Amino acid sequence: MKKFDLIVIGTGPAGEKAAVKAAYFGYQVAIIEKEETYGGAEVITGTLPSKTLKETALFLSGKFEKGIYGIERGLEHEASVNDFMYRKDFVSASAAQEIYDNLTRHGVTIFHGIASFEDSHTLTIKGEKEETIYGENIIIATGSYPYHPKNIPFDGVRIHDSDTILLIKRFPTSLCIVGAGVIGCEYATIFATMGTKVYLVNDKEHILPFVDYEISTELVAQMQAANIEILFNKSVDEILPPPSENDLVTVKLKSGEIRRVDMFLFAAGRSGNTKLLNSEKIGLQLGDREQVIVNAQYRTNIPNIFATGDVIGFPALASTSMDQGRVAVAHIFQTQDLEHLPSHFPYGIYTIPEVSMVGITEEEAIKRDLNFIIGKARYGDMPRGKILGAQAGFLKLIISKEELRILGVHIIGHQATELIHYGVLLVEEKKTLYDLIGQVFNFPTLHELYKYAGYDGLSNSTGHKIKP
Ligand SMILES: Cc1cc2nc3c(=O)[nH]c(=O)nc-3n(C[C@H](O)[C@H](O)[C@H](O)COP(=O)(O)OP(=O)(O)OC[C@H]3O[C@@H](n4cnc5c(N)ncnc54)[C@H](O)[C@@H]3O)c2cc1C
Repeated sequence: MKKFDLIVIGTGPAGEKAAVKAAYFGYQVAIIEKEETYGGAEVITGTLPSKTLKETALFLSGKFEKGIYGIERGLEHEASVNDFMYRKDFVSASAAQEIYDNLTRHGVTIFHGIASFEDSHTLTIKGEKEETIYGENIIIATGSYPYHPKNIPFDGVRIHDSDTILLIKRFPTSLCIVGAGVIGCEYATIFATMGTKVYLVNDKEHILPFVDYEISTELVAQMQAANIEILFNKSVDEILPPPSENDLVTVKLKSGEIRRVDMFLFAAGRSGNTKLLNSEKIGLQLGDREQVIVNAQYRTNIPNIFATGDVIGFPALASTSMDQGRVAVAHIFQTQDLEHLPSHFPYGIYTIPEVSMVGITEEEAIKRDLNFIIGKARYGDMPRGKILGAQAGFLKLIISKEELRILGVHIIGHQATELIHYGVLLVEEKKTLYDLIGQVFNFPTLHELYKYAGYDGLSNSTGHKIKP
């Protein structure tokens, strides 16, 4: 039997980065992948495909983000679904190749097939042939899959989850999306940009409840302006598939309302990919969403087995999954280089317009009874914003009143997911308004939003209008 210092199950971001790091430190590493393509949800069904479709939608529709350049280029020809999917397929294929190259460059042994436990050190791989390998240590990085409620007759043609929506063969004329979380909101804005009439069903009063309310309210306004109808405080009772190809899908809501749409997308909730692992055989502890339970070092209840990424649940992001893999390796081999993730990490929501945040929201500050002030700057007031023709979007700082410490940064607008990283540093490094105002930025840039939000915060702290 082949023996390894570490076996990693899954080539998504959590698995790839863990395997490569351990190999870099000189350990014998194997990785197992059940799919033909490498990269998991990051590459095939999630992050990169949806982000590429967002950029493609903006490019093909000629719409840009609201007001950016102040014009709409208009389509010279009707964009086909092939135009829409072309770049996504290209990006996925090259990212998968990149992962393969990275693994082989570091000497990681790759196995293809479904991995399952024989005992806490031994895995069976069922692929073209069956093989058993031994690992001193094992990392489970098997990701997650879309949750399928029983009352939804998924068919992958007209009634979709977030995996099959990427395989559509034509554009829906209308689309009903259930779940106004990150995935639901992103797809709502992508399809609306391509001209689809979108209904977004949300069982709560607000979309994206973890986002600062002022930001989510602005996003709602922009989504509504883009012809997205958001049905708040509504949930689905029943979905009736179309009786024939030319008929519509019937969406019955619990309120009694009915919407008839071309396609339906369920985008609420994911569960851990643990079914195939034979985890009962080794007594691996699982949670109620089939996720693996781990401690702060990503160690499971079995000392030589670790788990990272979506399979352990929150926050279930590609960004954090990669570093969880690296942290787990640091604990397995005592590399002393990465004890834990930073306490503050950014959230990026690739809606149109983008939203990004780090640290606490205004609502959390109120709930915690903090003495705080707000500082705000608008894209349209910045010279770079004027050059871009931005009519909407803003950056908002949450600042402690006594120390003037920056506790939270919230952005909605063009390139928000890029702009947030300076905010991550401000919050993580406990910087004050004076640290921020003391910096020189390139001019003209959107980063000036930070400086002018800082001056606005200072004005609000003294009650004097400061004219920077
Ligand atoms: C639509 C969508 C959009 C997203 N957008 C973003 C975003 O913008 N930013 C962000 O940071 N995150 C985003 N995410 C989340 C991100 O994709 C995941 O957090 C990330 O891919 C999780 O990585 P992972 O390595 O844990 O799992 P995965 O990427 O799911 O990889 C798991 C791998 O394990 C393999 N596997 C499973 N079981 C077995 C087995 N028994 N044997 C062998 N192999 C197995 C799978 O085939 C897969 O390749 C998005 C997700 C979705 C669905």
